[in-house]
Amino acid sequence: MPPTFPQQPLTAEIIAIGSELLAPDRSDTNSLWLTEKLNGIGIEVKLKTIVGDDDARLEEAIRDAVRRSRVVITTGGLGPTEDDITRKVAARALGRRLLLDEKVLDWIKARFESFGRKMPERNSRQAMVIDGSEVLDNPNGTAPGLFIEHENTAIALLPGPPREMRPMFESFVQPRLAEKSGSLRVVRRVLRVAGMGESALDELIAPVYLQYENPQTSILFNQTEVEIQLTANSRTDAEAEALLDRVSEQLEERLGKAIFSFAGETMEEVVGLKLAVGRYSLAVAESCTGGLIAQRLTALPGASKYFIEGVVSYSNESKTRTLGVEPILLLEHGAVSAPVAEAMAEGVRTRAGTDFGLSITGIAGPDGGSEEKPVGLVYIALADDAHTEHRKLNLPGDRNLIRWRASQAALDLLRHRLI
Ligand code: ATP
Repeated sequence: MPPTFPQQPLTAEIIAIGSELLAPDRSDTNSLWLTEKLNGIGIEVKLKTIVGDDDARLEEAIRDAVRRSRVVITTGGLGPTEDDITRKVAARALGRRLLLDEKVLDWIKARFESFGRKMPERNSRQAMVIDGSEVLDNPNGTAPGLFIEHENTAIALLPGPPREMRPMFESFVQPRLAEKSGSLRVVRRVLRVAGMGESALDELIAPVYLQYENPQTSILFNQTEVEIQLTANSRTDAEAEALLDRVSEQLEERLGKAIFSFAGETMEEVVGLKLAVGRYSLAVAESCTGGLIAQRLTALPGASKYFIEGVVSYSNESKTRTLGVEPILLLEHGAVSAPVAEAMAEGVRTRAGTDFGLSITGIAGPDGGSEEKPVGLVYIALADDAHTEHRKLNLPGDRNLIRWRASQAALDLLRHRLI
């Protein structure tokens, strides 16, 4: 009998406050960090909101969050300036008074004095605390945090700068929340799939994952591959892993070798490891990808164990001179063709003296396509000492995506040979 776990995880939401976070060049990284920490103590994040420095919208966001979640964490807006509105707006949303805390005021004054400065008057705002809240020390800044148990919800108001927010969360908030959540654990697993689109994958695996509420399954498209994310919650890590194993085994039965990674590894990491373990050597010849495969493999530490050589061979003349592709092949079939892809793989393998030769030739666009050979037509080939094989691909996307997908497909061809 598979184990069942009736206990539901605590639900949390995070509100990132600050108009600067709505600018196109800023991201809310606090909530990413907090989500990982919360998951680690068995709390599931259900919603994240970014709110500018706007009283009415922030009040609404806090009210809604407190109504529906057992844990609410805000970051930012605790500073001394006019636009730092979190304290006053949170007090209003909770229907509580804001009171001056003399002890906090003395602490802020002392902090300024320790730098040889007098506290500016406006910093006294940071000593205003919400009635019934607990003040959280901030050793790295002047803005103290606040922790409030309101009705059935725990609320933490934390400063925005990560170097102030993180230690405050770890020292004060995390232990209090861990106690509330009991020992429930949330464990995530990422399976990555190659050579299959999102909808084809969903069609194949929905009958499996729809049977289970725990783990929860989501399918995400991530540049060149599709990811299946499984999230299980349970009393212990081992039990959560058992729940994940049960579903991932069934997914593997359906998907077989299309799953290339079970722990979030990239395609190049998987291929690199297989080459290293088998003590194989590789040379690549790339046309339309311009060295992308070489770049991806050599970005890994230890690539010198297996990666011998990468040739970017763009023109016909180079394909002949550098890789030994017969001019007649180029003339009869064109540079983007199966015979040329195979000759490139064989040529680079022979010249580099490696176990494998891998090649790519294609039309990445946006120009250069024809009716017979449209943009996105790519041939990849793989040669070893016994035989050479090729694949013809019709890849969708813009130039960047076609190049990336071609490199992924070529690495995947090699991965299959190494299995
Ligand atoms: P301070 O007392 O330093 O003013 P604060 O609580 O008022 O603290 P904010 O003024 O809202 O914090 O933000 C200060 C800085 O912290 C921002 O300019 C930004 O660099 C960083 N920051 C704020 N919120 C986030 C966030 N959600 N993710 C990442 N960085 C953030």
